[in-house]
Amino acid sequence: MKFHNITHDDMKNGDGLRVVLWVSGCLHRCKGCQNPITWDENCGLDFDEAAENEIFEQLEKDYISGLTLSGGDPLFPSNRQAITELVGKIRNRFPEKTIWLYTGYTWEDIRNIEVIRLTDVVVDGRFVEDLADNNLMWRGSSNQRVIDVKKSLAADKVILHCE
Ligand code: SF4
Repeated sequence: MKFHNITHDDMKNGDGLRVVLWVSGCLHRCKGCQNPITWDENCGLDFDEAAENEIFEQLEKDYISGLTLSGGDPLFPSNRQAITELVGKIRNRFPEKTIWLYTGYTWEDIRNIEVIRLTDVVVDGRFVEDLADNNLMWRGSSNQRVIDVKKSLAADKVILHCE
């Protein structure tokens, strides 16, 4: 897996202050995408031990609420194994931290994927320029949903975060 950036103390991509991993690779090609540079899976830096350790060092800080996975798409097919391994390690090492995942796939497409069960919140769906709204919290267009994963899996229907 390749990635473009790891941002620290991020306030815009989930609850609290977070570390955000921006991975490479996206098939959705949304019109108006803010990060088209991330579409190419071969572009960016190797996600290696140093990158992983950078995330772990951030998560060791008390004031960091957790990790957000964004991109690109963390669920781009060739990213899924590396993302699953990373999330598994974080669940073991930092059980108190939350994991958010942004994807262009819809909840209905990805709810049965192994890594989803290990996340806390999924923001789903492609960015739709005609539905874009800067006032929306944690999402770019109104078709996207901020989904509470555990509640949604338990109820077998979408339950929104903070609902
Ligand atoms: S899913 Fe996200 S990264 Fe991919 S094209 Fe759409 S807005 Fe861009």
